[in-house]
Amino acid sequence: MSTIIDEFSFDHPENKGYGKLKRLKPVFRGEPEFSTIENKFYKGWKHQKKAKPRVHAVFKILSPDATLKPYHRYRGRVLASPALRNRTKNPVNEQLLFHGTNRYCKLVEDSTRTRLCQSSKCYLCCVIRNSFDIKRCGTKNKFRRFGTGIYTTACSSKADDYTKNGDETTQLRVLLVSRVVVGNPYKLRENATSLTEPPCGHHSVIGEPGIDLNYEETVVYDNDAIRPAYLVVYGDRPESKSKFHSLITTLFKTPVAS
Ligand SMILES: [Zn+2]
Repeated sequence: MSTIIDEFSFDHPENKGYGKLKRLKPVFRGEPEFSTIENKFYKGWKHQKKAKPRVHAVFKILSPDATLKPYHRYRGRVLASPALRNRTKNPVNEQLLFHGTNRYCKLVEDSTRTRLCQSSKCYLCCVIRNSFDIKRCGTKNKFRRFGTGIYTTACSSKADDYTKNGDETTQLRVLLVSRVVVGNPYKLRENATSLTEPPCGHHSVIGEPGIDLNYEETVVYDNDAIRPAYLVVYGDRPESKSKFHSLITTLFKTPVAS
């Protein structure tokens, strides 16, 4: 039986030359993958008060086969679920969803900076290296609307709220785009902060906008339900704007909304 090699694996024939020290593969403008990510990013920018930033670059995140195999095994288990028996297209309901986190280095600030840093504070590099870990849930934000899980969203402008550049000399921003096995989601409109797993027969929780939430979020409760897939690099770097911002901030000692 032939095994299909994951396109995000170092072992895939198109990823020759990539490995543990070189995990980020540039996706060039004009390639279909670039448009897919760029379109998702723009379509997901829903906060009307936040100006839509420009997408500068997209990188594909490559991983060792050993890291990807548990994801495929999880996908296989979800595929066997009776609730998904009638889905023909995208049977495990795999989605590309955004996640914003801390970056304490200059990773992808320009196209030459593609080496991960070693700082334990730099969650971005940690997730690229080791994928997500539910144990870290709540490290950054104590409030967990849908309990102890891994939070993602199709709303890029919401994920952007969770990005933080620890290095003040960086000007661009970065979001992780992950493959998420959503399976049969349980939809919730109200907070359920004590959840540690999805309700029986379901594989994830989708928070729908309405009572407690303004923008959608998707939560999975198993480390193997998700793998980082792309980085999208975005933002504006007009010198004059940042100088203006710092001048106004200094004058009025108050942050300026951007
Ligand atoms: Zn880093």
